[in-house]
Amino acid sequence: MRLRALAKINLGLDVVGKRADGYHEVRMIMQTIQMYDVLEIEKKAEPGITLTTNIPYVPTDERNLVYKAAKMLMDEFHIEEGLTMNLEKFIPVAAGMAGGSSDAAAAFVGVNRIFGLGLSEEDLMKRAVKVGADVPYCVMRGTALAEGIGEKLTRLPRVPQCYVLVGKPGVNVSTKTAYENLKLDDPAVVHPDIDGMVTAIREGDLDGMISRMGNVFEPGIIGKYPVIQEIKDLMENHGARKAMMSGSGPTVFGIFDSREKMEQAAAVLRESKLAKTVFATEVF
Ligand code: ATP
Repeated sequence: MRLRALAKINLGLDVVGKRADGYHEVRMIMQTIQMYDVLEIEKKAEPGITLTTNIPYVPTDERNLVYKAAKMLMDEFHIEEGLTMNLEKFIPVAAGMAGGSSDAAAAFVGVNRIFGLGLSEEDLMKRAVKVGADVPYCVMRGTALAEGIGEKLTRLPRVPQCYVLVGKPGVNVSTKTAYENLKLDDPAVVHPDIDGMVTAIREGDLDGMISRMGNVFEPGIIGKYPVIQEIKDLMENHGARKAMMSGSGPTVFGIFDSREKMEQAAAVLRESKLAKTVFATEVF
């Protein structure tokens, strides 16, 4: 069985508080894009899980979210057969694109199907949050408002057709680093108008959505890695309606009206060598 694990971008990302247990409360507009890892899974007679991947530094044991997700479901349902999985990664790692979370979501969906467990999407989403705050959204996909720690989801209509250029510089940023560099009382931190974005998306108003986009993590991470600002400027100087950092960074994405404009900007970005990964795609 072959599954696609789609990457996400955050069209809007706000942090609104911190819970007593240390988790941050967020409000985010999530959007899946047509960039994906491929997870292949097969049953095997011997018990246990075997995982392989094309990225040498990504763990293949219980530290991998794919492994964790599969094991969680297989333990709960006392499955005695084993599973062989191969994960072909294309989504950049530690990039703010929910690569690991989406791989985990694909594992939940795949294990449910391959062993005929009969769980609904909602059943899977309830279990998914135990692997990571973004995993329930990755099961759901599409356009959504995510609140709480990211697990309280409201589906939104698909955003109007637009093209997405992804540029990831050659640095990696962990979510932990992003929170350490977030100064919520800093006047440079602009809280995006998430409610306004929800209304604009519900009305199919791309301009209204774009004018309200923002990510509270940007100032802190750009302060550390100015290349992020350079990629944003390059995209906006070459036709992007708006360019912004996704999630906790460092990946930058630009929103374009046409594929042609996006391809032109992609060529300039490749030439500039500012980004290690350049990927031209569209919303899912
Ligand atoms: P998010 O957008 O949710 O913050 P991210 O893009 O910052 O995610 P990931 O690529 O999901 O981060 O992974 C971050 C770390 O998690 C990696 O350094 C890696 O060691 C570990 N990891 C565990 N499982 C996976 C996986 N399936 N793919 C990639 N990394 C994984």
